[in-house]
Amino acid sequence: SPIERKVPVQSLSCVYICTYGKMLSKFSYNRVWIPDNEEVWQSAEITKNYKAGDPFLHVQLEDGTELNYPVDPAALPPLRNPDILVGENDLTALSYLHEPAVLHNLKVRFVESRLIYTYSGIILVAINPYKQLPIYGDAIIHAYSGQNMGDMDPHIFAVAEEAYKQMARNNKNQSIIVSGESGAGKTVSARYTMRYFATVSKSSSNAHVENKVLASNPITEAVGNAKTTRNDNSSRFGKYTEISFDQSYQIIGANMRTYLLEKSRVVFQSENERNYHIFYQLCASATQPEYKHLKLGSAEEFNYTRMGGSTVIEGVDDRANMVETQKTFALLGNVFGGDFQMDVFKMLAAILHLGNVEITAVGDERSSISLKDKHLNIFCELLDLNSDKMAQWLCHRKIITTSETVIKPMTRPQAVNARDALAKKIYSHLFDLIVERINQALQFPGKQHTFIGVLDIYGFETFDVNSFEQFCINYANEKLQQQFNLHVFKLEQEEYMKEDIPWTLIDFYDNQRVIDLIEAKMGILELLDEECLLPHGTDENWLQKLYNNFVNKNALFEKPRMSNTSFIIQHFADKVEYKCEGFLEKNRDTVHEVLIEILKDSKVCEQSFRNSLSLLMVTLNATTPHYVRCIKPNDEKLPFEFDSKRVAQQLRACGVLETIRISAQSYPSRWTYLEFFSRYSILMTQQELSINDKKQICKIVLQRLIQDHNQYQFGRTKIFFRAGQVAYLEKLRSDK
Ligand code: ATP
Ligand code: MG
Repeated sequence: SPIERKVPVQSLSCVYICTYGKMLSKFSYNRVWIPDNEEVWQSAEITKNYKAGDPFLHVQLEDGTELNYPVDPAALPPLRNPDILVGENDLTALSYLHEPAVLHNLKVRFVESRLIYTYSGIILVAINPYKQLPIYGDAIIHAYSGQNMGDMDPHIFAVAEEAYKQMARNNKNQSIIVSGESGAGKTVSARYTMRYFATVSKSSSNAHVENKVLASNPITEAVGNAKTTRNDNSSRFGKYTEISFDQSYQIIGANMRTYLLEKSRVVFQSENERNYHIFYQLCASATQPEYKHLKLGSAEEFNYTRMGGSTVIEGVDDRANMVETQKTFALLGNVFGGDFQMDVFKMLAAILHLGNVEITAVGDERSSISLKDKHLNIFCELLDLNSDKMAQWLCHRKIITTSETVIKPMTRPQAVNARDALAKKIYSHLFDLIVERINQALQFPGKQHTFIGVLDIYGFETFDVNSFEQFCINYANEKLQQQFNLHVFKLEQEEYMKEDIPWTLIDFYDNQRVIDLIEAKMGILELLDEECLLPHGTDENWLQKLYNNFVNKNALFEKPRMSNTSFIIQHFADKVEYKCEGFLEKNRDTVHEVLIEILKDSKVCEQSFRNSLSLLMVTLNATTPHYVRCIKPNDEKLPFEFDSKRVAQQLRACGVLETIRISAQSYPSRWTYLEFFSRYSILMTQQELSINDKKQICKIVLQRLIQDHNQYQFGRTKIFFRAGQVAYLEKLRSDK
């Protein structure tokens, strides 16, 4: 099994310690990267020879400033790549592989050449341009169709094509895993992959299958996306869409699974954020005759839609979008027929009215709702409920013990809480119902032979205050990262075996220990479940148990020095501090029994994130994965603006540097004998060139040029180089 060791990404340059002095002396231009507060890294040229043991490196910055840069033997400044390699479309082709090299290369491509896609080995890095680019038309789709990934410019279509080709070639299911932080472009990328499949594998037997598959996107976005401060169309749920293909690899339908809908948004929005789009679309259409009976008005009139302070999004016409939503419903056919649509709109309107129900405090202990409350009555009318019972059970709870049943009044805050919990429940039920119907609409005759799954899920998150939601998202990301590590590791292993290279243990970071901390027996989640079952369980008691079990016993768990209400987990990407408040309630995710009972129509089912996550992992593990990492280049949504700090932060969090590190420790550069021969024939002697066997020539030349034989390996078809060797060969070549 792989050795487990955590190497901070920052000190990637350790790789160079032993050969550093040697490497520097090989170059006439001694160019390095040194840390910079603004740009993360800046380029510097070494002006005096560096000898091992020197306390300083004498450097000159690009603006001419001379500097004595203190040398830390554990973190020597990383070396710059030769210019010929800058702008490479695959980062792993860089001879020096480290954060500054990666960052610089991405920046040059993005800012100077306006190229948003770059490979990093098996990952496609996609930087959000915040500008419509003319690179997604059908002509481009057809240009990528049937091509090899390496022959074309990096593109989201190239990844889609690769998945499609591998599915057809190997008869194996595929997954495209799109990740990145909010606003990075995941949903846009996922949509493009789906459009690609819809275009290249159009069904000849079932008309419009592909259009229906594509129609699932705007619907789930209407009910699952909202305006946040980071993204006007932010997905507040995760989605795995399986596109089904038949024997001849034509689309025959799709199936969708969703994860972790942010329910709290239904009843609460922060400043400048909105509730789910669909509410505003409905309110904007309130005056139309077909919606009269919903008794809606403008979004300003409802607590649940006006809380964020601004009910409109610049450049978005909610009323026009309602027309689009309805058209998409219609496109999906009978299961979204008029009755079902109206039921959906009724439930949505009911939620808005429920939010306006006034709950009055009666003394300190009780609360009540007037039976004349207009909104209560509309709510009950829309859902066909008994309003007396509703008013009663929103303000009271039934406590059933072994010996008796007690009816207990609730305080106003408790009743408000119960009302909001009910609204969230109705919405999440509605969301599930819509997803279920979409899935029905996307089933067509014909047997599924294979599928390609597209996963659009939030990336690793850390805010000033992190709660249960971030905890679940980050846990999901740990699982995805582990799956990614194992996959990369397996691919390396396979490549070595194919090339008959003696197996070298690659040392990579395995995050099993964090996963254990969360999900193992007596781990964080099990303790949480136990606490939830206790009648008097509290967030604080649970946290105390975490402290008792893990502080000073598990290196990945810490208690913050200044807080008794939070805990810190060292995730693969970063340390995150979580506030314990609300964990129990959100994990229980329950509405009082009686309220559920009176909602007789709804088959309310319990959602369990953990089960659905483990099912997702099983599915992903049975497919060949393809990775797309979306990067948000700046926080202002400016076109082609590259904020190095923000990009570096995301590269660290999304596993790009992790693959790079694995490559850097093994053999980052791989050339076929022919490629090597063509590029470096200039370094070969007449005598060497007179040998017939080109492969033999390459071996002899390389043994002469690089004395340290540990720096390369001869495979069956390729030569494998350790970091820095290609840069050295390039130097020899340019000196010729
Ligand atoms: P969230 O996690 O909040 O759902 P996301 O990663 O799904 O975020 P998107 O909604 O895909 O982000 O992208 C945000 C916005 O960025 C889009 O609405 C669009 O304006 C822009 N954008 C993203 N990708 C591209 C692209 N390839 N070309 C042009 N604009 C893009
Ligand atoms: Mg999204």
